[in-house]
Amino acid sequence: MQVQKVVLNSRPGKNGTPIPENFRAEETILAPDLEDGEVLVRTLYLSVDPYMRCRMNEATDSDYLTPWQLDVCVDGGGVGVVEPSRCSTCTEGDVVTSVTWPWQTHTIMKGSGLQKVDPQLADGHLSYFLGAIGLTGLTALLGIREKGHVIKGANQTMVVSAAAGACGSIAGQIGKLDGCVKVVGICGSEEKCRVVVEDLGFSAAINYRTEDVPKRLKECCPDGIDVYFDNVGGAISDAVIAQMNNGSHVILCGQISQYNKDVPYPPPLSKEIQEAIQRKNITRERFIVLNYMSKADAALCELSHYVKSGQIKVLETVVNGIENMGDAFCSMMKGGNTGKQIIKISECRKS
Ligand code: NDP
Repeated sequence: MQVQKVVLNSRPGKNGTPIPENFRAEETILAPDLEDGEVLVRTLYLSVDPYMRCRMNEATDSDYLTPWQLDVCVDGGGVGVVEPSRCSTCTEGDVVTSVTWPWQTHTIMKGSGLQKVDPQLADGHLSYFLGAIGLTGLTALLGIREKGHVIKGANQTMVVSAAAGACGSIAGQIGKLDGCVKVVGICGSEEKCRVVVEDLGFSAAINYRTEDVPKRLKECCPDGIDVYFDNVGGAISDAVIAQMNNGSHVILCGQISQYNKDVPYPPPLSKEIQEAIQRKNITRERFIVLNYMSKADAALCELSHYVKSGQIKVLETVVNGIENMGDAFCSMMKGGNTGKQIIKISECRKS
């Protein structure tokens, strides 16, 4: 059968901004014969994520991420439906996900590498398995639970950067549910600020592109900051850390403002910020969601409950068509998304 795939066309270079032309869509022929243990899956949704920027480099300098190879099909988070199967654990019609899903409209995979999901957990919104009820939701929930030290009744203020993004939008809502009295978001547009406050229930939001972040943090967090869910690093995080309380906690989730720079992860802090962290006894431990997978099943059930009961609202930006993967990735890296950036590849019903 004829299928479409996306390969890595060129690398942006360690200090380059990725462009859609770094990716190339191609037609290819997929031999439909399955070996024992294999399934043919039709791709429904694909995910683009900030960590992929590092996979575009020749070397990732990370022990758990491999670089994508030039002219080879790119992979990442995906969800799809099983068509024919020669695997005893997968049957036709099953909805499955994987974090190594090829950017391809149909693909043959080992059934043992796929995770079966129950569509009911997401009320049929299968793209949520790449976001709120997938790794994104887990990152927000487990990041807060493992590193946030949120205590109900402790009158804590939380700040979230990239607050209108996939992880940030969920993290702020969980911060509230877990007991923070105030949750302040930092994001890159007026509309994003409006959405996090009016639609997601954040206490306040700061537009870092147009507002004086230190000044607005003082206004929005008069009692200082107790928990910081850090998605971005750089100057925004320096401004937040400068206003954190003694014994407060940074959840070091990501540092997207530094991903187009040739710096190690996590990027080194200035002497001044390092001193502030020490002086104020602030914890700032690196968080990697993949290290907490033993807690994933219970956490996914909790996220599903919150989403289905409306206690967590899910935001998505959906782009159609596998040929637009590169555009969607580059747009997300620059803030074009509100909520999880999803690419819809085919309809959920059988085509
Ligand atoms: P998002 O949906 O948040 O998309 C990225 C957002 O980052 C953009 O929408 C943009 O929003 C913001 N951004 C981009 N460049 C900058 C910049 N220079 N300064 C400030 N903000 C910027 O992506 P995710 O939710 O998937 O990821 C968020 C973070 O979480 C990333 O750092 C990622 O690496 C990390 N992560 C970590 C995991 C872990 O296990 N530790 C797992 C998953 C994600 P805006 O318009 O506000 O600028």
